[in-house]
Amino acid sequence: MAEIEREAMEYDVVIVGAGPAGLSAAIRLKQLDADLQVVVLEKGSEVGAHILSGAVLDPCGLNALIPDWKEKGAPLNVKVKEDNFYMLGEAGHVRIPNFPMPPLMNNHGNYIVSMGNVCRWMAEQAEEMGVEIFPGMACSELVYGDKGEVKGVVAGEFGKNPDGTPGPAYEPGMELHGKYVFLGEGVRGSLSKEVIAKFGLSDGKEPQKYGVGMKEIWEIDPAKHKEGTVTHTMGWPLGSNAGGGSFIYHLDNNQVYVGFVVHLNYKNPHLFPYMEFQRFKHHPVVAELLKGGKRVAYGARAITEGGWQSMPKLVAPGVALLGCSAGMVNVPRIKGNHNAMLSGKAAAEAAYEAIKAERSGDELAAYETDVRDGAIGKDLKMVRNVKPMWSKWGLTASLALGGLDMWTNNLLGFSFFGTLGHGKNDAEATEEASKHKPIDYPKPDGVLSFDRLTNVSFSMTNHEESQPCHLRLGNEDTPVRVNLPKFAEPAQRYCPAGVYEVVEKDGQPEFVINFQNCVHCKTCDIKDPSQNITWTTPQGGDGPNYPNM
Ligand SMILES: Cc1cc2nc3c(=O)[nH]c(=O)nc-3n(C[C@H](O)[C@H](O)[C@H](O)COP(=O)(O)OP(=O)(O)OC[C@H]3O[C@@H](n4cnc5c(N)ncnc54)[C@H](O)[C@@H]3O)c2cc1C
Repeated sequence: MAEIEREAMEYDVVIVGAGPAGLSAAIRLKQLDADLQVVVLEKGSEVGAHILSGAVLDPCGLNALIPDWKEKGAPLNVKVKEDNFYMLGEAGHVRIPNFPMPPLMNNHGNYIVSMGNVCRWMAEQAEEMGVEIFPGMACSELVYGDKGEVKGVVAGEFGKNPDGTPGPAYEPGMELHGKYVFLGEGVRGSLSKEVIAKFGLSDGKEPQKYGVGMKEIWEIDPAKHKEGTVTHTMGWPLGSNAGGGSFIYHLDNNQVYVGFVVHLNYKNPHLFPYMEFQRFKHHPVVAELLKGGKRVAYGARAITEGGWQSMPKLVAPGVALLGCSAGMVNVPRIKGNHNAMLSGKAAAEAAYEAIKAERSGDELAAYETDVRDGAIGKDLKMVRNVKPMWSKWGLTASLALGGLDMWTNNLLGFSFFGTLGHGKNDAEATEEASKHKPIDYPKPDGVLSFDRLTNVSFSMTNHEESQPCHLRLGNEDTPVRVNLPKFAEPAQRYCPAGVYEVVEKDGQPEFVINFQNCVHCKTCDIKDPSQNITWTTPQGGDGPNYPNM
């Protein structure tokens, strides 16, 4: 294809992703200097459309960024009132009392929020300050300068044919150049992955680890709704097959977020994370709560779990990784939004000082220092051994030892275990199918549990079909030649949106990619045992449309 000519626009800072990290950076830049030219590009059709997390928000990030958020009408309306933790068996449950939990696990002072709505509100604040926000603009490529520094992104390319050639309504998009480019793409960002590899930012670090999180929003019987209640569970149905657990958060308006996370380092390729989630809802404790209610939305997203020891170097010439692009989730707390906000703020402060000193295109070392030595580093360091302990020694031992480790870190500032490693990445953790038994999952009943495709329709996912498939295979024949005989092609099961199928054609197995269903969770890019699938951005505006609720 001939070289594509694109118009270029110049900014001080170009920000990819209107999540909590990207929007915090934009707001902080404008707070520091109203004259800075700042642009935020978001692949969702609107801000919030791709933000899955119905979350418990630790407001420390927002307090630091916008101390008067309450007066400004931020949608933090439901304070956590009750915190429960259950260990589930198949038919029963045991409540783990709160007192042995380290203080950091306490949710009092936190809020149950729709992060989609929080991001919509943050975008309004940013726009009022003069930030340009362009939703529906997927950033598909990085632009490099003469010295190899990142100097911008390509955004808004539309209308390619399925074979990648320009179609009749082709729009080349434009280049957006900045003195600095911030990548706030969230977990497993496609541009972030390129930057991490190109500049060797993960050299000497532990591999990043992930889980896949699935979530439904339910409207339940008002008599059972207890606004402000937070419940976490572990144990059944995963047992020893995989790490993970559930969350149930009672928002307002009789709504409940019901979610389930499966750690992606599971060995058995027959495991079906989506069906584990569906089965979980039949536990008597959950079924009783949901009976008589209705599921109104569904979505899925990977979550970073590597923590402190997996966080890559955050800066390279011209570019900085923000929030979960670098993996800033505190795993035992299942919280990353506060760190995403703090990281956006810190990156903005470093860029402001650099621009004031007439620098550009270099490394924002002050940002790296702020993250590692400041509040984010402290938050992540304290819990750094919980995930490796769970992976190595299982749930029960990790609860006891992980709890002890968090206490000693909290009270004495050190760990008896030093810093444990994670070992393999999640793709490498997958073992051959012949070593494991297939798992027999009950059929969804259509009342409490649903088949995958019906649920995907509740994510309002939409992709223009006449574009190239954004899920790229390194080798076209690897799924059938390698993954099917060796791993029973686990893509059929690990994808929470039913994108991947193996069908029979002319008596032969054929691998089919239904990219239209993709909810942009990125699990395939992480878990494919042959590391043969690369998630790239489809054209802007495509993907899920998570509701404004
Ligand atoms: C199931 C689940 C439950 C969770 N629960 C909680 C919780 O209760 N509390 C909590 O604090 N945290 C929770 N988290 C973690 C939290 O969601 C993340 O830490 C947080 O979203 C990170 O923010 P971010 O801004 O880095 O990325 P994101 O919130 O993922 O935002 C990234 C944005 O960038 C956009 N984007 C990505 N790539 C591109 C591109 N190339 N071009 C243009 N736009 C792009 C995306 O569409 C998205 O809008 C949970 C996560 C999951 C998966």
